[in-house]
Amino acid sequence: MSKEFDSQTFFDELVAHQLVLPSGVRGVFGRGPVFEDVVERFNALVSRIAATDGAEPRTFPPVIERSIIERVHYMDSFPHLCGAVYSFSGTERQAKELSADVNDGKPWDRHLSMTDLVLTPAACYPVYPTLSGALQPGGRLITTMNWVFRREPSLEPTRLQSFRMREYIRIGSAEDVMAWRDMWLERGMKLLRGLGLDANSDVASDPFFGRGGKVLAGSQREQKLKFEILVPVISDIQPTAVCSFNFHQEHFGSTFDIRQADGSTANTACIGFGLERVAMALFKSHGFVPAQWPTAVREQLWPR
Ligand code: ATP
Ligand code: ZN
Repeated sequence: MSKEFDSQTFFDELVAHQLVLPSGVRGVFGRGPVFEDVVERFNALVSRIAATDGAEPRTFPPVIERSIIERVHYMDSFPHLCGAVYSFSGTERQAKELSADVNDGKPWDRHLSMTDLVLTPAACYPVYPTLSGALQPGGRLITTMNWVFRREPSLEPTRLQSFRMREYIRIGSAEDVMAWRDMWLERGMKLLRGLGLDANSDVASDPFFGRGGKVLAGSQREQKLKFEILVPVISDIQPTAVCSFNFHQEHFGSTFDIRQADGSTANTACIGFGLERVAMALFKSHGFVPAQWPTAVREQLWPR
């Protein structure tokens, strides 16, 4: 029987067990040590199952150059999700006006101006500009984990504004990239079901903005460019995407001049686990105390 869970009760329970430390802002909260341990252990498990793939690890800060967002036309599709960094660069007198406005409780945004940074919207974005030029035969495989920002405040505990994504990024020919994506779809399902989660995969689309966005989302679905693995966390009528598989075709390859060994434009795909969502799916499925989780699940996350 399908049912809606009570997302407020789930959130309150996460808080009561000190897994989540709420802030005054929706979709922004701290994590207690037990929550964090689950995130780290799952991330380590992902690394272990992919160890022989030979992915090259990369680490980036949670901000990227604004020019990346501009070059990939992010603002055409997701203007509502972007967090751009604005800062103050005025004179002494303007600084006084700014602090007066802040201290008087007035709006102070007029004193700020745009910088060359935006908050990283997807963990894979900083990777593509580092790949410009010719690839070795067979292409590349990169892995990265990062905090990402999306301006989607929500009361749903699984919809955060700031969260972590563990990603693998494959760059090469369309055939190689798609075969790799399909391999991960199977592997991801096995991984999540193996952790006792009621996981299912489905074709998906990105949350493109506006009326034009509906058309883009439709075409993305039609071409099966995005898949998700979903697990019931807040509702089992509308399960939560915990992992995404995106085939970008030549979008990033042509933007950043990434070429295959034969000179043709590279295709790219990424797979990304939403780490907080996976942790919440585990808490929802097995309870709030990991010490009491099924042995088969514990042995994978906390191997001896
Ligand atoms: P692309 O590279 O095409 O932009 P991506 O793989 O980098 O996509 P998404 O597919 O949008 O990014 O998201 C990846 C995963 O991040 C999702 O499967 C989900 O688990 C998690 N996620 C997405 N949005 C949120 C959110 N608001 N709060 C928590 N987790 C999220
Ligand atoms: Zn990605």
